[in-house]
Amino acid sequence: MKLSKTEQVALISVVVTLGLTLLKFGFYLLTGSVALLADAVHSFTDTFTSILVFLGIKISKRKTASFPYGLYKVENMVSLFISFAIFYAGYEIVREAVAHPSGAINLPIVAAAAAAISTVVSYGLSVYKLKAGKKFNSPSLIADGHHSRSDALSSIVVLVGVLTGFDRIAALIIVFFVIKAGVRPFIDSLKVLLDASIDPETLLKVKDILKSDPRVVKVKSLKGRNSGSFKFIEAVIELKAHSFEEAHEVSEKLERAVKREIPNVDEILIHYEPVSRAHCRYAIPVVNENGTRLSEHLSSAPFFVLVDVDGEQVKNRKVIANPYAKLERHKGPMVAKMLAKNDVDCVIVSSEPPGGVKFILEGMGIELIIAHVDMVEDALKFALKEAQRTGSHE
Ligand SMILES: [Zn+2]
Repeated sequence: MKLSKTEQVALISVVVTLGLTLLKFGFYLLTGSVALLADAVHSFTDTFTSILVFLGIKISKRKTASFPYGLYKVENMVSLFISFAIFYAGYEIVREAVAHPSGAINLPIVAAAAAAISTVVSYGLSVYKLKAGKKFNSPSLIADGHHSRSDALSSIVVLVGVLTGFDRIAALIIVFFVIKAGVRPFIDSLKVLLDASIDPETLLKVKDILKSDPRVVKVKSLKGRNSGSFKFIEAVIELKAHSFEEAHEVSEKLERAVKREIPNVDEILIHYEPVSRAHCRYAIPVVNENGTRLSEHLSSAPFFVLVDVDGEQVKNRKVIANPYAKLERHKGPMVAKMLAKNDVDCVIVSSEPPGGVKFILEGMGIELIIAHVDMVEDALKFALKEAQRTGSHE
């Protein structure tokens, strides 16, 4: 049987708590300290809690036909259970303090030594589990780490008890910390079980990754939830793509990027919608500043006419100069960048431009329409007719 790192940590915790049980029980027999006996019983129940953590981690890794989203939340259920165990530990301390075991103890120094060893071991175990739990993002290990910390605190109460009779004030102060240790796993596990959102920083990071592709116009909705060690994320994006295949390709690329850059993402689902073309900005390469006649070339056209169309109505029209028209090399990418900066959605040309330009434009989410006409008015008419025919500009 090959164990994962988190399973190993959980198993070590089982062995250590069982060892603590035996140690405390042995020293109870030796000294007759009722406080040590109570602590031994507590450690015995902790052994079962640790077994539960181990089983929880093991079960949570399963994905079956009846649990297609995985059983990750088993870990959160275990955490919730552990938070109750911590609260119970707090109750035990109070009871101990009130009951005030007054029976005579043999060898109080020996009993104190046992309590001191237990304190150190429990604290060490808590550090170990918290560290591994955070490293491997295991909520049940983190909860159990908090639990062991509360155990270390209750052992301090035993220590003070056997040395000084009983210090009720020490007990009450410690109960405060024990309850505090239980509140975190309680709230955290309830939140995950109720599908609370993942943290806003992670969502912001995901949004940045989605927006890194220039074809993504808008992130319309973004939500995510935790499940055990993992995150599930859903996004709706508005995409400037020219085909179903391209849209699919973009969303797959983004899904991979999110999985690569955000740790512990089990699944990210990107739903894409075409950009709504109610408002659309066309760019048409023209030969002069009047902006009436199309240029035969795209990147070396001296001017561009920019036309805003709302539905079927032309709203705005302006002519901009092309500062890269006379460039010897690389003018294709420069012009494409300039058009993208001017929020151009479509470029209308008279004839098919050289292959490279088309790909550069598409990469920036700009559609290329080939109109086979010479006049700007005809080119616009052609584009609007195309838009009507297809419902969009696809
Ligand atoms: Zn405990």
